[in-house]
Amino acid sequence: IVAMEDYDYLFKIVLIGNAGVGKTCLVRRFTQGLFPPGQGATIGVDFMIKTVEIKGVKVKLQIWDTAGQERFRSITQSYYRSANALILTYDITCEDSFRCLPEWLREIEQYANNQVVTILVGNKIDLAEKREVHRQRAEEFAQAQSMLYLETSAKESDNVEKLFLDLACVLIREA
Ligand code: GDP
Ligand code: MG
Repeated sequence: IVAMEDYDYLFKIVLIGNAGVGKTCLVRRFTQGLFPPGQGATIGVDFMIKTVEIKGVKVKLQIWDTAGQERFRSITQSYYRSANALILTYDITCEDSFRCLPEWLREIEQYANNQVVTILVGNKIDLAEKREVHRQRAEEFAQAQSMLYLETSAKESDNVEKLFLDLACVLIREA
């Protein structure tokens, strides 16, 4: 018996970046269309699934959120294993979250497979008046590290759909 799959591709996408940059909100916004106010640091699940269709191609995205485990380095290896794409997120209003990026890149180099597609995401662009990291600086950093770059707002739903669809397109192309 051959099971009929309801998708053409399955990709695992993993979100990383400092606590508080908006990873959980990005996932919730994309998978549930929600921006939950006052939600806790964890969502209590390891991953969420969303299937998207791009030019008639059905792509199932398995999206892994760190669920507040950013500090627990012991989970790292299993977390990165088999990721097709990484969403490395920082907060444009938090210089510190940007300065930590090299640390995350070292982790990627150490644990992720070398085919992995990485996109750098500057989140919280709805807080433009509090911006601490200029777009050009982030773009140059991303380019130097061969990463894609996108700025988002999980709150305003700005570029969130685009983030996951762009990533899916790249993954299809490289599959
Ligand atoms: P995580 O630790 O990276 O998962 O971050 P969370 O998703 O839990 O978000 C941390 C805080 O930032 C929460 O108070 C969110 O409401 C807030 N936040 C997340 N995304 C945005 C955004 O796009 N704009 C604004 N203004 N706040 C956001
Ligand atoms: Mg979180």
